[in-house]
Amino acid sequence: MALRRATFKLYPTNKVNAELHYHRKLHKDLYNAAVSNRITFYKKFGKSVSYFEQQNCLPDFKEVWYEYKVCNSQTLQATLKRVDIAFQRFFKGLGKYPNYKSIRHYSGWTYPSLTGWKIHSIGDNGYLELAKIGQIQIRGKARLWGHPKALDIVHRNGEWYASIVLEIDDTLLKNSRSSENGTIAIDLGCNDAIAWTNGEENGLVPAPRFLRQAEQTIKHLSKRKRRKRSPNFKKKVKASRRWKKFQKLVSKLNRKVANQRQNFVHQETTRIISSNSTVVTEKLEVQKMSAKAKKGKRKKQKSGLNKSILDVGMGMIKESLKAKLSDIGGLFVEVPTRKVKPSQTCPKCGHQEKKSLAQRTHVCNNCGYTQQRDIASAEVMLLWHFNNLQGLGTSLLDVDDSGSTSGTRKRKSAGSMKQLGRVKRQKSTLTGLDVETSPSTK
Ligand SMILES: [Zn+2]
Repeated sequence: MALRRATFKLYPTNKVNAELHYHRKLHKDLYNAAVSNRITFYKKFGKSVSYFEQQNCLPDFKEVWYEYKVCNSQTLQATLKRVDIAFQRFFKGLGKYPNYKSIRHYSGWTYPSLTGWKIHSIGDNGYLELAKIGQIQIRGKARLWGHPKALDIVHRNGEWYASIVLEIDDTLLKNSRSSENGTIAIDLGCNDAIAWTNGEENGLVPAPRFLRQAEQTIKHLSKRKRRKRSPNFKKKVKASRRWKKFQKLVSKLNRKVANQRQNFVHQETTRIISSNSTVVTEKLEVQKMSAKAKKGKRKKQKSGLNKSILDVGMGMIKESLKAKLSDIGGLFVEVPTRKVKPSQTCPKCGHQEKKSLAQRTHVCNNCGYTQQRDIASAEVMLLWHFNNLQGLGTSLLDVDDSGSTSGTRKRKSAGSMKQLGRVKRQKSTLTGLDVETSPSTK
């Protein structure tokens, strides 16, 4: 059994829409009350309130605040759980201190089990029935359908969505993807998003330029927005209607770019998986790669490169591949970049030579092999996976992963301040180098 989510757009009538907004407000108020309860209790008694204490208060709470009687009691518990999760995250140092939320930043509520709602659909358009709220038309298409388990009602960008947790049979999941047992090596890049090879054939997928295309329009609209009266909560200035209008346009465009990117990622990864069950790719650290250049002439260039890296969605491609491979029980192989150096090695003879970022073709000085740069490095990765790389007697056993993760180099000594300073300086120059010339920043 695997859990998957399916999201549908809701088309409520005006009356139901008002009802949905009312419920969202109730949940927001409960959330804030629970946060306030925790804060004041801690201030007064120096003790924190647990989730169960708050949950046990709910019946009494409903006696005083009788408007909450229309809410399904499990949804109220789920909202308290949200507060609890926010605090737990804070205690673990993962999140900020939970604060009161305004209605604009409060997305919706959760039905944690099957009570209080019913869906009349088989993964297609249909109806959603919410107790005490009403019937709502839904539209959308779930890729796979199973047994509904839980439901989130989400308000986003002025629209309502239902995100349903489904339990899906494993066999269904496996059959959903035609699993052929090919092996493919892919190299992710900015000029060509994906360079792939399976040993016999190879190809390139040109990088999409969604952000680049929309960039000018976004800039233009943002500039016009800045000229309108923006809100200032401290001075109690409300945003002008025109400011709101432009705000909407800008966010709509940003959303479009994000959707386009996601669509691209899904299409390409599905295509890759459709005929391969083993995917070999380079280990890349998108966060480090797209770190800002600290200073110097390369700052602008680096920020442009970062934009390209993020526009392709390299991290998204990898995550998506991993998830889809685990569905079919496939294998996701990461090549240790620093050890194998795919972009600097000749796939035919194993000769290593540095290339600059601008050099788009691989021409070997040793054996004369010529190939497109990214395809060449994909070929190196494929050979490495099959243990056939010339020159490097690599077997999976003698690859030490420690070398491939930079920044975790062992500090040899930490005696005097002088030594400490030296270690620190080494570290910073090293990371600087990583950003600029590491083979993974293509
Ligand atoms: Zn060569």
